[in-house]
Amino acid sequence: MNYVATVGLEVHVQLKTRSKMFCACPVEFGAEPNTHTCPVCLGLPGALPVMNHQALRMTVLAGLMLGCDIAPISKFDRKNYFYPDMPKNYQISQYDMPLCTNGSVPLHDLAYPKDAQKNIPAPDKEVHLVRIHLEEDVAKSFHFENSTGIDFNRAGTPLMEIVTQPEINSPEEAFAFLTCLKQILIYGGVSDADMEKGQLRCDCNVSVRPEKQAGLGVKIEIKNLNSISGVRRALAYEIRRQIGALRNGEQLEQETRGWDDATSETFLMRTKEFAHDYRYFPDPDLVPVKTEILAADVRARMPELPKAKRARFVEQYQVSAYDAGVLADDLDLARYFEAAAKGAKKPKNVANWILNDLQNALSDAGKTISACPIPPVALDELVNLIDTGKISGKQGKEVFAEMFATGKHAAAIVKEKGIEQLSDVGAIEALCDEAIAANPKPVADFKAGSVASLNFLKGQVLKLSKGKANPQLAGEILEKKLKG
Ligand SMILES: [Zn+2]
Repeated sequence: MNYVATVGLEVHVQLKTRSKMFCACPVEFGAEPNTHTCPVCLGLPGALPVMNHQALRMTVLAGLMLGCDIAPISKFDRKNYFYPDMPKNYQISQYDMPLCTNGSVPLHDLAYPKDAQKNIPAPDKEVHLVRIHLEEDVAKSFHFENSTGIDFNRAGTPLMEIVTQPEINSPEEAFAFLTCLKQILIYGGVSDADMEKGQLRCDCNVSVRPEKQAGLGVKIEIKNLNSISGVRRALAYEIRRQIGALRNGEQLEQETRGWDDATSETFLMRTKEFAHDYRYFPDPDLVPVKTEILAADVRARMPELPKAKRARFVEQYQVSAYDAGVLADDLDLARYFEAAAKGAKKPKNVANWILNDLQNALSDAGKTISACPIPPVALDELVNLIDTGKISGKQGKEVFAEMFATGKHAAAIVKEKGIEQLSDVGAIEALCDEAIAANPKPVADFKAGSVASLNFLKGQVLKLSKGKANPQLAGEILEKKLKG
């Protein structure tokens, strides 16, 4: 029997605001524990929350970029629970009136894991969203040998929760979804979505069912995954485990599981007997939010989306769809490319240099594009020297290496090394005459039909020019002289 997997994701995204959701404490990763706190984010009795306008704005922007409907009126609710890392014992969240509903994330081929890109079962798939709401993050617990410490620096950080429809069908699709979502959030400047810093965390709801069964199987939740590849591995393991259990005739139960990255296995945390009733009610300290003016303002200043950028790169710079995909994949790389290609005669050649030599050099040096020692305009200059025949492609590589190492400009290096290519027709003609006169045998062989002899003569011309003659031009002039 064949089984189908169904996955829905709940993604928590830390917003890139300067201050916290309901107080003025700074949002900063890596500060000394408990140095960014106040009565509000410590949850002291009587402290009153004040809404962060920027967080509302960023959530509305994320919603608009993802094609969501923005609620005209939205409100905040208290989610009551015993939270070991939140002393007021409720979290301010949104229950029945979230800021955004619906919307979707289009999956792009290059967002799938590299080993899965050749075989994408549903190309151009869109994963639909249920809602996006805004809430406050809890503090962070650190478990020591005999005790637990709590750092409240993270408490109260604005957190956006994005909930998908259960329509993801494989670990690879979940991987592509998270990659595309992360890209859109970065494009909007909404979050850096750095999973290593906990800025993007994910819970997965996964069920399997026999292919012919109509309803979904038993839903099992995997909590708190903190890397995109971890989500892929956890889902692959869990889908295998559930199918194995069903094949053995076991009954699956609704439960919550954790993921152990070291053993690459999920483990049972709790079953549904412990399902919580959070007793939500509207937070009496916060007024409902009218979004009309805010949404209109955000809509008027929407950044370009990754999909639109890819299409524009193909149209405006004549790069291939694949290259446009790689360039637009990383916003910093896309910006670098545009800055270099803007004035270029052949933007496609600029793209080739970025995607091959520059990317390789950066990865060898362990640098990202934002720390690139070659400014975009300087790269355009180099490509232009090659395209106009001032230096050869081979010399170009030499100059490029020097530019990358020293940050000097191409023209300066060419001058310094004296490697400017000889492209003067008169001068090359004189060298060709010299080579022809000195090599009567190869000349006769060429006239008798030996193509290799032309290459020999071309070699002689290059030698006479001390390697500086433009080889293509030398070949053309020689051929014309020998045939004429
Ligand atoms: Zn605070």
